[in-house]
Amino acid sequence: MPPANKKKQGKVCRDCHRVVDGDNCVICGTTNLSDDWSGYLVIIDPENSEVAKRMNIKLPGRYALKVR
Ligand SMILES: [Zn+2]
Repeated sequence: MPPANKKKQGKVCRDCHRVVDGDNCVICGTTNLSDDWSGYLVIIDPENSEVAKRMNIKLPGRYALKVR
């Protein structure tokens, strides 16, 4: 059995770092996506999240810290 820790979690928008399920970003509408990313991040309350402010995230959702 291969190790299960490299589970596919979808692609990430290169523009806003949002984790996307489909083929384009729900926020930007762009298809500029990457599947080479790390640092899973869930933003629930962007208004009160230092991380969200630093990354310029305005909407709650799933994001990646690093996108290549
Ligand atoms: Zn986006």
